[in-house]
Amino acid sequence: MEQDNARDMKARTRKAKSTGESQLTGRRRATGPSKTKTLISPSAIGPANRGRVLQALIDLGPSSRAELARHTAVNRTTISGIVQPLLDQGILVAGAPLAMKRGGKPARPLWFSPQAGPICAAVLMPGVARTALVSLTGDIYAEHHEALDVDSASPEPLFDGLVRSLERTLGAAPSRPLGVGVAVGGMINTESNTIVTVNQATALAGFPLGRRLTGQTGLSVCIDHYPRAMLLGERWFGIGRGLRNFATIYTGESLGAALFLDGHLYRGPGGGGGELGHTFVQIDGDLCDCGRRGCWETIATLGWLRLEARAAGIDDPDTINSARLTAMTVGGDAVAAELHDRFAHNIAIGIANLHQTMSLSVYVLCGDVAGGGGALRDAIATHVRAMSPDRPGYPLDFRLGDIEDRATLRGAAGLILSENLQFTL
Ligand SMILES: [Zn+2]
Repeated sequence: MEQDNARDMKARTRKAKSTGESQLTGRRRATGPSKTKTLISPSAIGPANRGRVLQALIDLGPSSRAELARHTAVNRTTISGIVQPLLDQGILVAGAPLAMKRGGKPARPLWFSPQAGPICAAVLMPGVARTALVSLTGDIYAEHHEALDVDSASPEPLFDGLVRSLERTLGAAPSRPLGVGVAVGGMINTESNTIVTVNQATALAGFPLGRRLTGQTGLSVCIDHYPRAMLLGERWFGIGRGLRNFATIYTGESLGAALFLDGHLYRGPGGGGGELGHTFVQIDGDLCDCGRRGCWETIATLGWLRLEARAAGIDDPDTINSARLTAMTVGGDAVAAELHDRFAHNIAIGIANLHQTMSLSVYVLCGDVAGGGGALRDAIATHVRAMSPDRPGYPLDFRLGDIEDRATLRGAAGLILSENLQFTL
């Protein structure tokens, strides 16, 4: 049986290598969970087992060999065989011994070494390129940014801006980075590593960003849609750690969402899908940046909030955001409270539609909406439950994620981590 398992695993690994598919997150795969659930024998430890142990480590946080063995249902010897080469290479380190309850040899929790090679992360949004180095423990440093002219008729000035920021970041790398992960504020093709379209920077349509960046840096490059990078950041380093099914909802100047289904980041064929901001919530509603009408994005972003705040007579409406609106509401401002509730309802509409379709139990609110804290989260939860009630035994769970771009930068790094970890380390 073990030989069969080993043969199967080798065959899968060959197939994965030949298709560029990562077994860790199912990248390059259109849908679906991995069919493999068990680890293979110590004599056939391969990249897939290593990937699963590292995934368990990320899910659990710093963990002893015994804890990893329990979580992956194998013995400690097998775990030791997997982690020892990673310790030898300086990818993992053993922390200070933990006190044992009943004597015995103290366990030393394993975790990623802060000294391991960093990953370069980039976020390419319509008006700005941001770059940073991310350690395997999720620390962000060497941050730089460059303003981009969205009205440029050619993609080259935009690419040059990204490269300028990237080169400053790479210049601070203590060792050769494992690769460059790029989160793009637009539709991308993950098969060809190209940009399909960016609504507010049309010159980038069709731009072969992955190939151009590899040519510029000599590093492997992965690009993806920014809400998916944000989800990966929450999954690997944030509030989504350990979850098998959840969605992240990002709001700000735009609205995006991403899905993590049965242990895998969901991508449609070619990296499509996830454009929840452009699902329709109002027939013949307001005009959206995408050129269509009635998108969820038209009623649940800062643009809508500013217009409504002005109409309601709220002070300084052009700088209103979820944090200030919620603070005014909690402070007893009745006008703000009415707008707060309508905004929560508008955000809830899209989540309720998603919940009716996918029945995920955890929704992580990111971006501006997270600035509204527990009060806005609870108001959204109340409206979602009114439109899409809890199923018995499966209560809805709303969590606050990252307010700024921390999760997106970490998630852009996570693209490289999930793509390359098991094959290159
Ligand atoms: Zn739209």
